[in-house]
Order: sequence, then C-alpha cells, then structure tokens
Amino acid sequence: MNDKTLFEKIIGGEIPAEILYEDEVAIAFKDINPQAPFHVLVCPKTPIKMLSKSTVEDEKLLGSLMRIGSSIAEKAGFKDKFRVVVNNGAEAGQTVFHLHLHFLAGRDFAWPPG
Ligand code: 5GP
Repeated sequence: MNDKTLFEKIIGGEIPAEILYEDEVAIAFKDINPQAPFHVLVCPKTPIKMLSKSTVEDEKLLGSLMRIGSSIAEKAGFKDKFRVVVNNGAEAGQTVFHLHLHFLAGRDFAWPPG
C-alpha cells in the first residue's frame, strides 16, 4: 500500500514539479493551480501533517520555511508585497495533509481573506 501524500511523492521525485528551491530539510515548488501570478508552496521534507501537529522541536524548521519562501518571493520581484497562507485542517481548506506554506504575490489581496 502506498500511503504517501502527494507532496511526499514530489519530494521523492515520483511526481514532477517545478522546483524552485531544495535543501536537506525543505523544498519549494510552484503550485499546479496558482491562485496568483506568483504562487509557491514551501514544504518541510519531514512529513508533518499540518501546522497544529508541529512540536517545539520543529520551531527552527518552521522558521526556515518562512525564510525560504520570503527569499524566493524577493528573488521573483515581490519583496514587501506577498501573502503567506497556511490552511490548517480540512475545515480551513487544507487538501494535502503534508504541511505547506503558500506564498502568493502579483495581484491585490482582499481582507478578510474569505
Ligand atoms: P491546501 O489546499 O492543502 O492548502 O493546498 C494544496 C495545494 O496543492 C493547492 O493549492 C493545489 O493547487 C496544490 N496542488 C495539488 N496537487 C498538486 C500537484 O500535483 N502539484 C503541485 N505543484 N501542486 C499541487
């Protein structure tokens, strides 16, 4: 039985993705269904299901994910004008149960986000 999530398959190279950054602990790739001209997902390689399942041991990793996404957005020309979203749980819109941060930019964003 293969119970890997989609993002574990991308991390493992089983499913292709447009990868923008990768190191030992994290990977960033373009969202297949972008909600903005710039829409990048940043994931830890370790399979944390969702933000609320993370622990104090993950604090450094969580910080790295933020820094990685910020740096990619800056390199793409969106320094100081991007949005970061984490959908935590199905009721909040999470569909892939491997923690990921959405970095979105390139259009105006409404608030509240809906
Ligand atoms: P969630 O709804 O869990 O916060 O976000 C999941 C994201 O994964 C969605 O924005 C969706 O478009 C993206 N996604 C789903 N399947 C694939 C895929 O096969 N490749 C890539 N690159 N992104 C995907």
